[in-house]
Amino acid sequence: ELVQLNTMLNFILDRFEMILLSPSKDLNSDRKIKIVRHIPKDQEFWVDIDYDKMTQVIDNLMNNAIKYSPDGGSITVSLEKSGDKALISIKDQGLGIPVADQEKVFNRFFRVDKSRSRAQGGTGLGLAISKEVIEKFNGRIWVESKENEGSTFKMTLNYVQDDLLSTEKQWDED
Ligand code: ATP
Ligand code: MG
Repeated sequence: ELVQLNTMLNFILDRFEMILLSPSKDLNSDRKIKIVRHIPKDQEFWVDIDYDKMTQVIDNLMNNAIKYSPDGGSITVSLEKSGDKALISIKDQGLGIPVADQEKVFNRFFRVDKSRSRAQGGTGLGLAISKEVIEKFNGRIWVESKENEGSTFKMTLNYVQDDLLSTEKQWDED
């Protein structure tokens, strides 16, 4: 399924902004967390992925960014070209992840600080599932992080080149 990442990300972030702003008892509401978007308007990124599974991945990463951030922090979501790939990054100003744990967070049930994590709730599956999904789409996912400064989760995916896209669009019209 051909998905346009720009639109997809904006749609998901609209939903998170609504949750963050809603005065409900939702764990994530009223946290004064700001979402900053670096999503280009003049360059479209089309990728061949499953829309619902990809939504689940972005949801997982956004929920983590919110969960492991202090009130008032900002989360920056970017979409850009990196070599011949589309790069999505989700950067928070949260607790950060020690270097020794940065690969392990993608393992099932791994959680950085057991006591801290227990207080936050969750099962430790979100990132393991996200990695599985991204790799099924032939993409890569990793984290860059510094303790007490924040974490940036990054994903690269192959995107359909513009010239190929116009041919595919032509076929669609037939
Ligand atoms: P859930 O299954 O509900 O997602 P979880 O959030 O604990 O539970 P993962 O999303 O897989 O599980 O994350 C694994 C661990 O990685 C977390 O417990 C947390 O310690 C650490 N982690 C994940 N994202 C961040 C982040 N943005 N900042 C700091 N630590 C993080
Ligand atoms: Mg999680």
